[in-house]
Amino acid sequence: MAKTRLEKMYFCSLCDKMVPTEIKTGPTKRTFKGETFELTVTERVCESGHRIHDQSLDIITYNILVAAFEERLEMKLTNIKSIRLQYGLSDVLFAKLLGIERLTLNHFETGKLIPENDMATLLKELREPKALARHYFSMKEQLSVRERGLIEAGLRRTSPVYAEVDFLVEYAHVVGMEKALAIQTEGSQITRIKRKRRKLQFSQEELADLLSVPLETIKELEAGMVRPDPELMGQIGTVLELDFSK
Ligand SMILES: [Zn+2]
Repeated sequence: MAKTRLEKMYFCSLCDKMVPTEIKTGPTKRTFKGETFELTVTERVCESGHRIHDQSLDIITYNILVAAFEERLEMKLTNIKSIRLQYGLSDVLFAKLLGIERLTLNHFETGKLIPENDMATLLKELREPKALARHYFSMKEQLSVRERGLIEAGLRRTSPVYAEVDFLVEYAHVVGMEKALAIQTEGSQITRIKRKRRKLQFSQEELADLLSVPLETIKELEAGMVRPDPELMGQIGTVLELDFSK
């Protein structure tokens, strides 16, 4: 590092005493958000070469790193929120798609927090409806029927292509046709259960009581959160007078 100028006394935590310091500018390597960058930084060091925290200098270095990170990512971090908004998705649902906490996503969107490289790369990819569709199919089973509807609507609204997409066929590419069909069937069975239960004016509690199962079981089933158990489906069919073979 090239020496630029001699400076005043600072406390060095490694030397554990007040020591003369200087400001140096030179090339260095820094790891930031899981990526390594070579950059030129100006920093304060003690006479033994330890880095000393100097707020004004460290802010400049941080900003240089953020800019380098954005350049490598080929995306401005201030654009994160627009990725979600183009699909009209709530922060809760988008966070679920990303497998992160809602608060974390909020911090990414406001710039309070910068995502690690893996997450930043995923976010960048999801700008493309095709990538969102692929990501969605890969985790569709973890989503409720309502959440699936919202995401599919978001895809259709973003890209006219998806107005024509048969989600079953697309999904079959990921999990196989047999499984895709089974999931579609389950989805329609759940819809029929909900409709019939409401028609008969049963609450979820009443249906749970009739079946002698916990209320949670019915809630999770209707939310599409669990795979329906065939025996339970048989009992529901009997109670609600639904024939699932049709
Ligand atoms: Zn020192």
